[in-house]
Amino acid sequence: MLTRRHFNGLAVAAAARISRAQEPGRKLGFAMVGLGRISMQHLAPSLKTSSKAQVTGLVSGHRDKADKMAAEYGIPAKNIYSYENFDAIADNKEIDAVYIALPNSMHAEYTIRAAKAGKHVLCEKPMATTVADAEAMIAACKQAGRKLAIAYRCQLEPCNLRAMELIRSGKLGKVQAIESANGFNIRAGEWRLNGKLAGGGPLMDMGVYSLNACRFLTAEEPAEIKADWSVIDQDGRFAEVEENVAWSMKFPSGIVASCNTTYGANMPGFYRVHGTRGMLHMEPAFGYEGLRLTARIQGEPPIDEPSQEKDPVQFTREAEHLVDCIASGKDPRISGEEGLRDMKYMLEIYRSCGRR
Ligand code: NAD
Repeated sequence: MLTRRHFNGLAVAAAARISRAQEPGRKLGFAMVGLGRISMQHLAPSLKTSSKAQVTGLVSGHRDKADKMAAEYGIPAKNIYSYENFDAIADNKEIDAVYIALPNSMHAEYTIRAAKAGKHVLCEKPMATTVADAEAMIAACKQAGRKLAIAYRCQLEPCNLRAMELIRSGKLGKVQAIESANGFNIRAGEWRLNGKLAGGGPLMDMGVYSLNACRFLTAEEPAEIKADWSVIDQDGRFAEVEENVAWSMKFPSGIVASCNTTYGANMPGFYRVHGTRGMLHMEPAFGYEGLRLTARIQGEPPIDEPSQEKDPVQFTREAEHLVDCIASGKDPRISGEEGLRDMKYMLEIYRSCGRR
């Protein structure tokens, strides 16, 4: 049982960790959990140029991979952890936060263990594979007094923000309809095709971008969802997850959205928003660089605004957003609650398909 003395001791330790993370001029230390493509090729390199955050720890099941990365980032051996001794990060003052870049169904366990170790969390999308897991992640971070952000980089990206502004300002008129798609032709053998690790197919991985975009573009929550799914390629890849999902959403204002996602074709991520005064088109909409916003609006000169940003700026921005939230005490715009909402809608999409 936790005595008052123990409790006070924990509170003092937690306060000490908070104040250390907020020391002026000190960069927030992130441990990478899972050294795969997104963490090694995007998030970790993105912190090399950050004035607010740096990579100070590594968590991996492959010591050789971790040693190689540690040499590149100047990380001492004492800051390399395995999945087994992960909880010992609690005693490491150089690690303030973790970046969870593991297969989807592992996000919940490592977020909860990180929170219990007193660390803030930036977790990759999809936040989890069940609503119960997403709720447990939010509760664990709340209980530990730590921030939880979900890596929805598009919600912080300037071209996407500009699209939101064109809609919010009323320039596009009354929004009537949105079309969006996102997908790719997957190789056999990926964990993304394993139902237990991925929790679902392209919807969880790629479709979530379209779903999230429809929500941030309309600033509404879908009131009705209808969906269908299929497997066309009977080549063994889709024994456990779907190949295609198409879904439509109706928002309270009456805006209708139709979305597609696939693991069977290279489907460039895009959205088109149709309003009474014009149309805006973002393509690519969800990539790491090269985004392009065009719009044709009555009485306005044509808009053609390609992003000049290079990868991995979007990753620096999302990590620094968490740093700023820790410093200010504000909740991340890309919060756990935001991830939970998408989780609920994805499960509704699967239910509508008869896949749950
Ligand atoms: P990846 O396969 O390249 O990396 C996954 C990592 O998890 C590897 O280091 C692997 O060793 C480790 N791992 C630990 N246990 C594992 C297990 N049982 N099976 C397989 N791997 C295991 O994957 P990734 O593309 O880096 O994706 C990781 C997460 O990041 C996913 O949740 C994905 O949805 C997300 N992601 C986000 C973006 C984005 O732009 N925000 C882009 C790509 C991926």
